Amino acid sequence: MGARIIDGKAIAADLRAKVAAAVRRLGAEHGLVPGLAVVLVGEDPASAAYVRSKSRHTVAAGMRSFDQRLPAGVPERDLLALIGRLNADPAVHGILVQLPLPPQIDAKAVIAAIDPEKDVDGFHPLNAGRLAIGLPALVPCTPLGCILLTKTVSPSLAGCEAVVVGRSNIVGRPLAQLLLAENATVTIAHSRTRQIPAVCRRADLLYVAAGRAEMVRGDWIKPGAIVIDVGQNRIAGPGGKPRLVGDVAFAEACEVAAAITPVPGGVGPMTIACLLANTVRAACALAGLAAPNVGNVS
Ligand code: NAP
Repeated sequence: MGARIIDGKAIAADLRAKVAAAVRRLGAEHGLVPGLAVVLVGEDPASAAYVRSKSRHTVAAGMRSFDQRLPAGVPERDLLALIGRLNADPAVHGILVQLPLPPQIDAKAVIAAIDPEKDVDGFHPLNAGRLAIGLPALVPCTPLGCILLTKTVSPSLAGCEAVVVGRSNIVGRPLAQLLLAENATVTIAHSRTRQIPAVCRRADLLYVAAGRAEMVRGDWIKPGAIVIDVGQNRIAGPGGKPRLVGDVAFAEACEVAAAITPVPGGVGPMTIACLLANTVRAACALAGLAAPNVGNVS
């Protein structure tokens, strides 16, 4: 076990403390209290747990949390109407709609209905486009967390060979854009990529967001690489008890990598911390104030 373990829990706690300090300053100097609205449709237990955790951390950081629960069968127009009200509410600076949504609702239409200035998930096409062409944007929280974790090991990513496994709109694509902005040389791998172990072995920085339990083996990793494991997969552990594992075979990877994020306790905690940071950014932008330096990247 040679690799340095990147302690996402501690790094996220540090970022949340910075967010809380920025929130205190905004309140004291400008009377501004950032507010985050999280919309949950249905009763999915995992989504409900995420929403509770987001709301607890929002309040702990000194911000207002507006939880909105809708039944699983809600028509799309009712959800769009709620988003319209949240867009117009001056106490709400960030809006997040918990995904996945039930089948009667078109997630793309819902995301597009969110005011881009309140789009703290960074999924709105305007923010995705701004990120892609190098303009300031609200950036998706998980990729932002990945970059911040990497920078705790390697403050400059310029010139590094980065490989991102996965091309989803919420992780892989925006992560690749952020890495480009950091001047890394970026390869995106996906389910049609040929010789994927060899592609991964090129990486100084290897990001894995495929949703495939322990897919990346030790011999896919370049010695000395930094490995950021985004995957969260529930598998049957000893005695059939469910166990959370990443997309990387952790013990094998530890023998080869220079540094690696664990699952749990790596990327996961950073996602919520970055959501809080994005809410502060959105509140400042809406109020015409400069954003404080909380989890900023290039
Ligand atoms: P997704 O939308 O299912 O995308 C998965 C991506 O991985 C796709 O681009 C897919 O390629 C690629 N892929 C699938 N199997 C592959 C294989 N065998 N070889 C190479 N590429 C493969 O998933 P996601 O939403 O991006 O999430 C990915 C993982 O991250 C999941 O485990 C999820 O739970 C986790 N996650 C964690 C956090 C966190 O906060 N820690 C946040 C979000 C997601 P194609 O495009 O070709 O299908």
